[in-house]
Amino acid sequence: MFKNLKDRLGGFKGKLSKKLEEELEAVPEEELRREERAAASPPPTTTKAPEPAIETPERPAPPPAPVDRKAQRADRRAKRKGRKEKPPRPKKEKVKATAPTGDAAFTDSIMGKMLKEKKLDDLLDDLEVLLLESDVALPVAEEIKEVLKEELVGRRLKRDVDVDEFIEAALRDSIRKVLSVDPVDLDVYVREHEKPVVLMFVGVNGTGKTTAIARIAHRYKKQGYSVVLAAGDTFRAGAIEQLTIHSERLGVKIIKHKAGSDPAAVAYDAVEHAKARYKDIVLIDTAGRMQTNVNLMDEMKKIQRIAKPDQVVFVGDSLAGNDAVEQARKFEEAVGIDFAILTKIDADAKGGAALSIAHAVGKPIAFVGTGQEYDDLEVFDPDWMVDRLFA
Ligand code: GDP
Ligand code: GDP
Repeated sequence: MFKNLKDRLGGFKGKLSKKLEEELEAVPEEELRREERAAASPPPTTTKAPEPAIETPERPAPPPAPVDRKAQRADRRAKRKGRKEKPPRPKKEKVKATAPTGDAAFTDSIMGKMLKEKKLDDLLDDLEVLLLESDVALPVAEEIKEVLKEELVGRRLKRDVDVDEFIEAALRDSIRKVLSVDPVDLDVYVREHEKPVVLMFVGVNGTGKTTAIARIAHRYKKQGYSVVLAAGDTFRAGAIEQLTIHSERLGVKIIKHKAGSDPAAVAYDAVEHAKARYKDIVLIDTAGRMQTNVNLMDEMKKIQRIAKPDQVVFVGDSLAGNDAVEQARKFEEAVGIDFAILTKIDADAKGGAALSIAHAVGKPIAFVGTGQEYDDLEVFDPDWMVDRLFA
């Protein structure tokens, strides 16, 4: 999963860390000392304490006890190369660069080397290229780059921060940001919403829409809810049959009409059935011929008007990369989607669609399909993705 993107991000992280190490190496000792002294003794004219909100040093600078910086740097280098032996160094706790990185790793006023914008630009362009090559949508790649740049430029890295860890935390932050859209917790929604909860699934044929519906049915049946399927793809030969097979395997009710009949009527019947029999959840399948097809979008609007789904779920194929993002946009424009399910990520090396959809459409990915079984549906959140990219 995401192997290609993961490897390339790892390579980028290495290059950026190396660059930063060089920068740190280049700081003249006297300059650091001077700043250290300046930080230790603030100008006495100031009577009022500075507002703590922005530029206050985290703690008073330590007395100018000689800290062996050379040894620290050597240690960092050795750590990077994975060497075992440690050069002697003063006991000092490493500042862990955990997210959010901002103030844990940086200081605006103590010491360390300021990162110059120019020096970073080339490297950040490399990042953008690798993201684009991984099928990340352009605005999303740009956003990741900009957020990372904001985290780095013009700020000073504390001497005792592990550069590699720090870069990873900054990268994690920038990626988490583009993934962070108001999250949906469908379990909570289903639990708290008035029944029946009606979900309408939209998406192009072959993306795994039918499988996704079956998996959602399985998930909520396991949680003790009664589920009704609506065979609303009356257009494609075989779609009704396919959903029927799932309903039999899962032991859930299916409402279906003849092939070619009005899908809105099927959806309506399913909702009426659920109301009459006190069923909890209705899952409406829909046709998925070309997303640009005007008739299809009109059909989606009609189903929506008549069945009044509580949530519209876009199902996208992560292997389709940017196409999946375009499809999501089209359905968002036509019917408005509430969240996405991204299928086949078990087979996706690039990760572009997973990184792009939420930012491009402004709606979160709630689940991902991770295999061929009914259980292969995982709750998606930004940390889940970020953890997989940096595992
Ligand atoms: P639909 O035309 O959109 O309804 O697509 P289907 O549900 O029939 O799925 C199309 C194909 O994708 C089938 O062969 C599924 O087994 C496969 N598929 C669906 N979801 C996943 C997934 O999460 N991982 C993998 N590897 N295959 C999947
Ligand atoms: P059950 O008692 O909930 O299993 O439902 P039935 O045994 O009454 O269903 C028998 C047949 O009627 C099945 O083929 C269903 O698809 C169909 N059916 C049941 N309820 C409805 C409904 O509300 N609308 C439509 N169109 N068909 C229904």
